[in-house]
Amino acid sequence: MKHILLCQSCNTYTMKLICTCGEKTSPVKPPKFSPEDKYGDYRRKVLKPQLSKEGIL
Ligand SMILES: [Zn+2]
Repeated sequence: MKHILLCQSCNTYTMKLICTCGEKTSPVKPPKFSPEDKYGDYRRKVLKPQLSKEGIL
């Protein structure tokens, strides 16, 4: 499974360890998981097109 990383410097999501701005990225800490995470699918549907749009995936 790939980890999504976040550049704290420019607030960009990426899968690279080093952001295009040169800063090291850090793993995105998922929100506390709940068995009733009914918004999980929604988040994934929203996030994926965003990543595709930015050419990350
Ligand atoms: Zn950056």
